[in-house]
Amino acid sequence: MKFYQKDIETMPVDEIKALQSEKLVKQIKHVYDNVPYYRNLMDEKGVKPEDIHGIEDLHKLPFITKGDLRETYPYGMLAVPLSECVRIQSTSGTTGKRVIAYYTQNDINLWEDCCARAIVAAGGTKDDVCQVAYGYGLFTGGPGLNGGSHKVGCLTVPMSSGNTERQIQFMLDLKSSIICCTPSYAAYIGETLKEMGYKPEDNFLKAGIFGAEPWTEEMRRDIEKSLGIKAYDIYGLTEISGPGVSFECEEQTGMHINEDHFLPEIIDPDTGEVLPEGTPGELVFTCLDKEAFPVIRYRTRDICVLSRKKCSCGRTHIKMLKPSGRSDDMMIIRGVNVFPSQIETVLIKEGYSPNYQIVVDRVNNTDTIDVNVEISPEHFDDTVKAITQKEKQLESALRDMLGIGPKVHLVSPKSIARSEGKAVRVIDKRKLH
Ligand code: ADP
Ligand code: ZN
Repeated sequence: MKFYQKDIETMPVDEIKALQSEKLVKQIKHVYDNVPYYRNLMDEKGVKPEDIHGIEDLHKLPFITKGDLRETYPYGMLAVPLSECVRIQSTSGTTGKRVIAYYTQNDINLWEDCCARAIVAAGGTKDDVCQVAYGYGLFTGGPGLNGGSHKVGCLTVPMSSGNTERQIQFMLDLKSSIICCTPSYAAYIGETLKEMGYKPEDNFLKAGIFGAEPWTEEMRRDIEKSLGIKAYDIYGLTEISGPGVSFECEEQTGMHINEDHFLPEIIDPDTGEVLPEGTPGELVFTCLDKEAFPVIRYRTRDICVLSRKKCSCGRTHIKMLKPSGRSDDMMIIRGVNVFPSQIETVLIKEGYSPNYQIVVDRVNNTDTIDVNVEISPEHFDDTVKAITQKEKQLESALRDMLGIGPKVHLVSPKSIARSEGKAVRVIDKRKLH
């Protein structure tokens, strides 16, 4: 089994575009008729549903931002009667007040199809045992992959996140072959396996499907080594449905966007202007099929690049490269833009574990940046001199990457809290002053 929905996943690009156009025209009418908040935005911009003939007219429509969703909380964006909805999910609240998304049964169905496509792309079949170690509950990770795993016909192990030793016990006893969780939790499971005395080849896992937070290629290789698997990226957000908005195939050169359901654009985050394919910018999505909570031109604040380069897997859907981070993750330190992912790349390249924390502060009107990294257990007993030398070496590697010099502190193994969901990498104390 190579595809979950072959006809759609390998559809010629001009047919996909025609399908998107047809769906967009219907969707805009649905939203205009049923969501007064968006109707007002369209009226203010002087655009009517009749002006939208296809995807070429998309740029005429107003954007929706997280601010709009917070303003209309809890029911303002609903496009069907509440009695038609069967579920809510909510964002993790990583960057502020949570947003609630609503689903009809059909919305759930399509979302689970997207997750099933991702599982099949990672090599999943009905013979696999799929352990879902994303959190269950309001967070979309657990329920989304759970539904996808059922659709593929895997034996689904709904572990949720946490209780890591029990997680590992089930993984070994049930011979789990696929694991789904955040990359930071996957790293923690790998670390715990080792501590429990297991080697990577002692487990039965072949693939992992990891997402919901940014992670670097260096972290991917680290996880692949510690679990003895191939690690696949999956992307999504609650506002658009959840995980499975896009997913990696075996080629692993970006994630195919399920563009029969989600129409992507890249815009300049400052001007809102649509940028040509291949240019980095803010990712924007329009939901083409969603009934209950169909956001139009939703600004994700995730920064990435789209590419329609032909893929060896046979899928024709456009790819997005790994998001380099959210525009609101970006730290401005003494006027220089710094992403946590740049720091992670250097740390892992220099042989450290992905357990780190970045502390930003302002002292005497100057920004400071401190990076706390765990020293490996083998080096824990090194002399103070040797440790100071390691810190200096890391500081210099970070300075080369970032253009500014952070202060590095090597801290004792296990002293930085492990994450079972999305890791908190940055503590910005400047906001507290
Ligand atoms: P919140 O925005 O509160 O964290 P969600 O749980 O819906 O709520 O998270 C969606 C966000 O998670 C995305 O907008 C993106 O920033 C991040 N994300 C999800 N998957 C990935 C991934 N594979 N790579 C990088 N970032 C991701
Ligand atoms: Zn592909």
